This record gives sequence, structure tokens and C-alpha cells, in this order.
Amino acid sequence: MKKKIDKINDLLISYFGIPFRAKKLPDPTDTLIATILSQNTNDKNSFQAFTNLKKKFKFWQDLAMATQKSIENIIRVAGLGKQKSGTIKNLLELMTEKNGKYDLSHLSEMDDDKIIDELTSINGIGVKTASCVLLFSFGRNVCPVDTHVHRTLNRIGLVKTNSPEKTFYLINEHLPDGIAHQFHTNLIKLGREICKPGKPNCSICPLLKNCKFEQKNFTLSKGIRQNSFLLLDSI
Ligand code: SF4
Repeated sequence: MKKKIDKINDLLISYFGIPFRAKKLPDPTDTLIATILSQNTNDKNSFQAFTNLKKKFKFWQDLAMATQKSIENIIRVAGLGKQKSGTIKNLLELMTEKNGKYDLSHLSEMDDDKIIDELTSINGIGVKTASCVLLFSFGRNVCPVDTHVHRTLNRIGLVKTNSPEKTFYLINEHLPDGIAHQFHTNLIKLGREICKPGKPNCSICPLLKNCKFEQKNFTLSKGIRQNSFLLLDSI
């Protein structure tokens, strides 16, 4: 499995390049809040909602004092305002209960599994969100699995699973050192631009020769757009 992942990673790099990575890793609370905002919307809308919050509240303790309704209004552009504002409130409450401050830096001392356990104990935070904190804020070699990553890895045939969570544990068990960020980011680009949920554009895919998907599509759909804006490398 490790060799296969390496091969796929190399092919993706030869097509998409090595993805941009912010030099300064974002604060874990920022990553967590941005990832909560990104659920069921695109990166541009969630970035807008995140920017709105940052403009309105200089520090996260100020956000903790705000009413859920006012948070809901500020993040409206990202959709699911009621649910997301509730999760953000839960998160901030739990942070003060556990640490007495709005800060998650203590997690950096823990191993990956412990951080996932700690974060997923918060209502509304799942494995994907927790793993984004591991990769983007703590620089761990962990590849988060969203719907794009799950779909493409299954189509290629690297895994055969029926949920992103199962894909996450399987792929991360075999992930070669130091490739998590590039592998994750390029799989998202592949899923957005080429291996789309409906009809994949197999004729332009860099993984064509290595892909086991049986329903390949060779009719090139119109309007292929590059979409390289990635929220968690931009906050
Ligand atoms: S060959 Fe087609 S199905 Fe396979 S990864 Fe590429 S776009 Fe997706």
C-alpha cells in the first residue's frame, strides 16, 4: 500500500505540482473554527464567514461572549448557521472548561490519536475536522479525508470502503512519511477538477493508467475550471 500511495502521490505532483503551504502554521483554534465553517459549503464562502468573524471579534474570548444568534448572522454566507454557531459555542465552552482559556496549544504535546479523541468529544466535531487540526496546525503527517479524498481513493482502488472515516484510518495507517499535505491537497484538486462526483474526466486524468474504476468516462465535459483556493492554507 505504501508504494502505491507513493506512486499516486508522484503522479499527482507531476500534474498539479507541490501545493502551496503557508510558512506559519495557523493557530489550532482558527483551524478548528474555519473547518467547522467549511462543512457543506465551498472554501470561498467559508473563508468569507471566517473573515467576517475575525473582523468582528479580535479575540476568540470575545466570540465566546456573543450570542449564538449573532454568530449565526455573521457566518450566514457559509450556510447551516444555526448548527455551525452551536458547534462553535460548544467548542469555546469546552475549551474554557478544560483549560480555563480559549487556546488549544496544550494539544501539541499529545499523540495523534489522543488529539482526535479529545477533539471529537466535542459535539459537532468529527474525525475529519480533528484531522485537519493535526495536519494544518500541528504539522503532523496525517491526511484528512473529506468526500473528494474518499471518492477518489475508492475509484483509484487504493481502498474499498463505504465511509470517509474508514478511508481515513486505512490510508493513514500506510501513509509514507512527510507526504500528507501534498497528497491531501492534490487529491482535493483532482476531485474538484477532474474526478468529479458525477462524470469523471478520465481522458485528462494523470492517474488513468493506475486507476481501477470500472465506469471511466472519456467524454470530456465542458467548463473544466481550476479551483486551487484552499481554505486552511489561507487563514
Ligand atoms: S481515471 Fe477517472 S475515475 Fe480514475 S481517478 Fe482519474 S478521473 Fe477518477
